[in-house]
Amino acid sequence: MWSTSEQGRAALVQAFGPRRVLTDSRDRMAYAYDATGEKYLCDAVFFPESTAEVVEAVRIARRHGLPVVPRGAGTNISGGTLPVRGGLVLAMNRMNRILAIDPDDRIAAVQPGVPNIQLQQALAPHGFFFAADPGSHRVSTLGGNVAENSGGPHCLKYGVTTNHVRGLEVVLADGEVVRVGGRTQEAPPGYDLLALLVGAEGTLAVVTAIDLHILPLPPSRRTILAVYDQLEAAATTVSAIVAARLVPASIELLDRGMIACVEPFAHAGYPADADAVLLIEVDGTPAAVERAAARIAEIATGSGARQVRSARDQAEQDALWLGRRVAYGAAARLSAHVWTQDVTVPRDRMVEALRAVEAIGRKWRVQVVTVAHAGDGNLHPLIPFNPQDHDEVERMKAADHEIVAACVKLGGSVTGEHGVGIDKLPTLPLQYGPAELEVMQRLKRALDPDEVLNPGKAIPAPRRNV
Ligand SMILES: Cc1cc2nc3c(=O)[nH]c(=O)nc-3n(C[C@H](O)[C@H](O)[C@H](O)COP(=O)(O)OP(=O)(O)OC[C@H]3O[C@@H](n4cnc5c(N)ncnc54)[C@H](O)[C@@H]3O)c2cc1C
Repeated sequence: MWSTSEQGRAALVQAFGPRRVLTDSRDRMAYAYDATGEKYLCDAVFFPESTAEVVEAVRIARRHGLPVVPRGAGTNISGGTLPVRGGLVLAMNRMNRILAIDPDDRIAAVQPGVPNIQLQQALAPHGFFFAADPGSHRVSTLGGNVAENSGGPHCLKYGVTTNHVRGLEVVLADGEVVRVGGRTQEAPPGYDLLALLVGAEGTLAVVTAIDLHILPLPPSRRTILAVYDQLEAAATTVSAIVAARLVPASIELLDRGMIACVEPFAHAGYPADADAVLLIEVDGTPAAVERAAARIAEIATGSGARQVRSARDQAEQDALWLGRRVAYGAAARLSAHVWTQDVTVPRDRMVEALRAVEAIGRKWRVQVVTVAHAGDGNLHPLIPFNPQDHDEVERMKAADHEIVAACVKLGGSVTGEHGVGIDKLPTLPLQYGPAELEVMQRLKRALDPDEVLNPGKAIPAPRRNV
């Protein structure tokens, strides 16, 4: 007698052919991971090439009781693509065409499997860019960016992904194809389904096409490095810049530990003896950039920076940014694995949050190095650890949980931009009461009563309808 998963696999193979459905356990193992490092084996992997194929795959999976886990590049850090209940991994990488670029209407229409950087490269010759630029932009897909509502260094000025999505084509859990939003900038009439689906982590729909709002490339940019002997002074600079009504494109912070691991790796030019550095970028017309850079230098010096310097040319600008972009990779060299935390606090509580993170690291005897989208109050404390050392794993987990609790206590959020996945499920009740969680569960039940789409993610599992 065949199990449901065997029947489901056989039905998928029959529909799409044996070459297009991975069923061998060694192949499936390649889709058991994401950037959390945890592993769950799925029953099958399928690479749809059209919306119609997504519809058919979702219908087959549903009929055979297989959960469907949409997957982009698998770079999420919250367990979002782990097939925790087995089922079908829908790898969206072959739906990777840029369908249209319309500079006049400022819209790019893309399939979900397009890597973020490919869109940026295609837009540049038109003089445009897409504002959401997660650190993973070289590999992460636009479908993944939409499903996680991703942020990035430039979201301080331009907003996160949801601020730039105009329309979506999605496949619902029953296989129905729905278009939400539109090409206009005004909010669509009726319920704002776009706002619901962006950031839903693949739990409400599979995204099969995206209309993105694109922006003209700023005529001029300048990157400024501010160096500090005291972390507090760096955090004070961030508040002072905001209070001065300046809106830099980004303000990124690296603490002492992060500088120490980035610098030998990237040779970015961050002084090894600094307690913190800020990487500040301003953009706009050349005159506006000149004015803002001068004012920022004044503010940073007045707040205690020991050195402030602007990148003199593109090569120096690229080197400064490389240090920030490789932060995760550099931290990953410190041990066999690195745990990435993602919390947000109100900007004026940054110093307290950073000091709390340091104290928690000391308490649990784990190394913590921190990089932050400081302008947004979004911290990424990274904890290198050895998964084979069970004692260290337990201490890492305890420290991690305390960091989240401390940031929520400071008025923050359990996640800034990496999503809930499975990782943040236990901490959601720190932020939401039962009533708020119940509303989310009701929405899930209404759109996906059989829990077909990415079950066990983003929100606590809803009670079954009886
Ligand atoms: C080095 C590094 C740096 C990073 N920097 C940032 C950063 O600066 N800002 C930030 O926000 N994040 C960052 N991330 C996290 C991650 O890269 C983002 O969440 C990214 O958007 C995930 O894209 P992906 O294609 O890898 O999606 P995946 O990891 O494959 O999937 C992420 C989620 O989206 C769902 N999904 C994927 N495709 C679809 C689809 N077509 N339809 C419906 N659901 C779908 C999945 O089910 C899953 O829940 C970083 C990660 C790494 C490893």
